[in-house]
Amino acid sequence: MMRKRLYNIGAILQGLGITFKFMFRRQPTVPYPSVMKQHAPRFHGLHELRRYADGKERCIGCELCSSACPANAITVIGAENAPEDRRSPGERYAARYEIDELRCIFCGLCEEACPTDAIVLTPRFEMSDYRRGSFIYSKDRLLVPPEAGVGTPPDERPNGIPADLGRVAEVKSTVDIAAGYSATNRGEVLKTHRRGLAG
Ligand code: SF4
Ligand code: SF4
Repeated sequence: MMRKRLYNIGAILQGLGITFKFMFRRQPTVPYPSVMKQHAPRFHGLHELRRYADGKERCIGCELCSSACPANAITVIGAENAPEDRRSPGERYAARYEIDELRCIFCGLCEEACPTDAIVLTPRFEMSDYRRGSFIYSKDRLLVPPEAGVGTPPDERPNGIPADLGRVAEVKSTVDIAAGYSATNRGEVLKTHRRGLAG
């Protein structure tokens, strides 16, 4: 009996010893959201639909991303561009574009399949909400504003080839975390929301 009591007291002291040891250690907590955590270099987060520098949409409504998606998370309905209201440099544009982020497994196949670098996965992971419906990102939430466009549109180039294939994915790099977050439109929006939280 006495032996068992001594064993229990020893176990309690051992547990308290571990607590005391951690009390004087430097806290590993990241002060999120004022400081963002460094991701793994190939982290895939929330999507964005890009534009060209002249404001035209990169998406040509081809539905390749939707066909490549293993989770059936993307819905694209294309429509013909009208000469008086040209949305994209191609014949067609995405009249409807939706991603169900709850279905998405963030594999990046949509980004790989896209011929115009329109859909990219950004380093952002902030998409929590209370309602399932909020995770269906429609075009108005995915498409960046005209001033956030990048690259020369193909209709200004010989043979109609975009000048910067592959470079759009590069600018959302997760290796340089500051540049990666800033390269996203949502990053710019959240930066203004967070003013005052840092420091
Ligand atoms: S990241 Fe993968 S699962 Fe998610 S929408 Fe793109 S292809 Fe589909
Ligand atoms: S995002 Fe790319 S792959 Fe998907 S419909 Fe638009 S152009 Fe095609």
